[in-house]
Amino acid sequence: MDCIFCKIKAGEIPAQIVYRDDEIIAFRDINPKAPSHLLVIPNRHIETLADLKEEDTNMIGRLVLVANQIASEEGFSENGYRLVMNCREHGGQEVYHLHLHLLGGRQMMWPPG
Ligand code: 5GP
Ligand code: ZN
Repeated sequence: MDCIFCKIKAGEIPAQIVYRDDEIIAFRDINPKAPSHLLVIPNRHIETLADLKEEDTNMIGRLVLVANQIASEEGFSENGYRLVMNCREHGGQEVYHLHLHLLGGRQMMWPPG
């Protein structure tokens, strides 16, 4: 499958992986938009938020918990951080393998562009 994130998961494209279990991996974004920018993804290839099914409820919850854990480990949990999921064209999604952005280490602006 021609998916960048599936290739990262398989070790075919190098990435700085910070977390891995049988359901989820997390790695550093190649073009960080904050001092800390990580991507938390399901191992299973799901294209977008809109493709989630009832049976994905536990996995999607775990994505958030893994992001929270990484924020603590990276040391920016107390100051706060932002979790973002972009869905399809109007959401600004570029990689069509579901991912949760974890951004920290600076003051975030609101609203996003
Ligand atoms: P999206 O716009 O789809 O929500 O975000 C995709 C993210 O993936 C972007 O922040 C982009 O910098 C990141 N990205 C794209 N290609 C690669 C890659 O090959 N390696 C890593 N680590 N991140 C990537
Ligand atoms: Zn994929």
